[in-house]
Amino acid sequence: MEDLTGFPTEITRAGQPMVSFKKVQKAYGSLVVLDDLDLDVSAGEMVSIIGPSGSGKTTVLRMLMTLEKINGGVIYVDGKPLTHMEKNGKLVPASEKHLRARRSDIGMCFQHFNLFPHMTAIQNCMEGPVQVLGLSKAEARDRGEELLELVGMADKKDQHPSRLSGGQQQRVAIARALAMRPKVMLFDEVTSALDPEVIGEVTNVIRKLVSEHNLTMLMVTHQMGFARDISDRVCFFYGGKIEEQGPPAELFGNPKRERTQQFLSAVK
Ligand code: ADP
Repeated sequence: MEDLTGFPTEITRAGQPMVSFKKVQKAYGSLVVLDDLDLDVSAGEMVSIIGPSGSGKTTVLRMLMTLEKINGGVIYVDGKPLTHMEKNGKLVPASEKHLRARRSDIGMCFQHFNLFPHMTAIQNCMEGPVQVLGLSKAEARDRGEELLELVGMADKKDQHPSRLSGGQQQRVAIARALAMRPKVMLFDEVTSALDPEVIGEVTNVIRKLVSEHNLTMLMVTHQMGFARDISDRVCFFYGGKIEEQGPPAELFGNPKRERTQQFLSAVK
């Protein structure tokens, strides 16, 4: 079953987390960035990742985007291995072909929107569905228009990015990512490059996705108030591990670990 915007409204593999990191290791040379990380995200859950600079937050998202290989462990998406393939009952590292096939399960929005500058807002939203998913132009246009409406950009659909404000470009970037109907949406500091007066228009779109659509989301943010407002769970990262996690009221209201307390009092 799908809702109006086409997001799945039912858990496809009952009982399985939508995202699962199992003892994931990532190192750059001798620098260990993710240290035996275990992290599960349920279908429909919004999880925020907070923590000091360099604690591995963005690396978690990059590993899910399969932009780089992990050094140990396995990542599963929707119950199936992402970083690996099943072969004769064993897990072997994923081939490029396997990664390409799975990549569209994950949608990502970055701090810098990276819209295609020579394409209008609607063309940006149509490109992936036509080129990667094989939709007809008419289908992709319908889908794109629906999503631009969702992010409040329907009236600017024929504008090029250079004619749009940062907040407007970021909203188009969110619509473009959603047009691929990802199983998981990742947001990496999507408001950090924006002027303060337009941050609200982007956070409101994310708020709407949380309250009206059953999408699985992982968000890295420095905006503690926002994380507190919209997350089902907040994970505090320290040194490539989850130092503490819990519902936002608990983690922000009554942090148990000293490092969490120190971090939260420093960012307030
Ligand atoms: P955060 O998002 O919490 O600020 P990151 O996940 O971006 O942290 O980075 C974690 C650590 O990994 C940092 O020390 C960073 O310098 C290092 N790092 C990230 N990407 C690379 C890379 N491509 N090569 C070497 N070191 C990297």
